[in-house]
Amino acid sequence: MIAYLPEIYPDELVYSWFCRYYIHTGCITNTMAFQELLYNRCNNPSKEFIGHLNTVTAELIQRLFAIDDLIINHTMYPQYARFIPLQQKKKALYHIGYDFCDVHHLFAILPRTQSDSRLKYCPLCVQEDRKKHGEAYWHRKHQIRNMSICTKHKCLLVNSDITAKSEQSFTLNPAEITVNLQEPEYENNTLKVAFSEYMVAVFDAPINFESNIPISAVLYNAMKKTKYMKQSGKSRYTKRFVDDMQIFYKNIGIGSVASMSQVQRVLLQDRFDFSVVCQIAFFLNMGVDDLTVPTLTNEQIEQEQNSHYMKGRETIDWAVYDNETAPILEQIAYDIYTGIASETGRPERVSEKIIYRELGLPGHRLDNLPKCKTILAKYSESYQENWARRIIWAYNKLKSECSGKPFYWSDIRRISGVKKHNLEFVLPYISKHTDKKTAKAILKICQI
Ligand SMILES: [Zn+2]
Repeated sequence: MIAYLPEIYPDELVYSWFCRYYIHTGCITNTMAFQELLYNRCNNPSKEFIGHLNTVTAELIQRLFAIDDLIINHTMYPQYARFIPLQQKKKALYHIGYDFCDVHHLFAILPRTQSDSRLKYCPLCVQEDRKKHGEAYWHRKHQIRNMSICTKHKCLLVNSDITAKSEQSFTLNPAEITVNLQEPEYENNTLKVAFSEYMVAVFDAPINFESNIPISAVLYNAMKKTKYMKQSGKSRYTKRFVDDMQIFYKNIGIGSVASMSQVQRVLLQDRFDFSVVCQIAFFLNMGVDDLTVPTLTNEQIEQEQNSHYMKGRETIDWAVYDNETAPILEQIAYDIYTGIASETGRPERVSEKIIYRELGLPGHRLDNLPKCKTILAKYSESYQENWARRIIWAYNKLKSECSGKPFYWSDIRRISGVKKHNLEFVLPYISKHTDKKTAKAILKICQI
């Protein structure tokens, strides 16, 4: 039974707190610590939230803290819940604190990119924490997605060996015994520092549990004064906006630049991703208060709602809708077709299903959008043709990576994902998508 919990440090993750419980109480194994803290042996500790606690631990914690404060100040709740609709925000707060349900049911938790795959730490914070508290701990703000700087010390965060994912992770890894002390590297890019400080300020701002102004309306209103929206406010130039924004963030060098469909879905009130919203708002020069305590009139909110498709809306101006969606769809389709959209760079097949998903469109919507339909037709291909393009891509990738060393048909199969028995259907398309020399080399490697 749990007897004692150490003091929780400023901005410490609950996970980190449990890690310290594990070493302070002298639990010999992780399993022992889990038995004392968690509901049952199938549960794993949550890195970003609280996890499924047993009744005794839950009651002890509830006696020590106002549970809402613990969630707001010691979990990643402010990142995931910051911009979601009010009712959902309240519901998530309740479920995380009282019935420990799987957070994936409460809000969208996007897959992690490489740069956010590990728990991160700041070497100077480690030194300070050791001096002040006698031990290092995992800081919450270092774990914000796309955060690569400790804004307190302006130095680069270091990736630990510990995965940031909770799933399949059944260990408590205290920062004190995990981190490797090293010389800090300072960040010179002032824009990158400014963007990181912006994210921290948004993360730290009090969460508003009163107002229910949709984030899409807040961003729409900020965009109104820019070249990205027609004077009438009736349509915006989303493609131009995302193109400019992507150049801006690629120059800064952040880990994960928001994609066309991610921006589109935030603007259409379909997603509320913290990093995407911060990227849009910072690029639009919005103050932190404009974003976290917005003051819009009902007319302003209504104007935004009327400017795009909304669920349940009776009348839709199809021509405007088609014109607005077409350039966005073109970009999304292109990125999928060429492989820009995939993490490995593998060219994928542009299916209607993916387009509906990426654009967040309701079923059959494309039937009313002729321009969009034409673009989709331009990118459509059979599975066989797509497999051929994947094989060519895999061949070229291996050729450049192996620099002269031999590679085999099995290597091509592995990274292209094309099955052996499908090869005969693919071959006719190889020469359509590459030059003669490459086609010949591929056929040779396939031993045909
Ligand atoms: Zn620091």
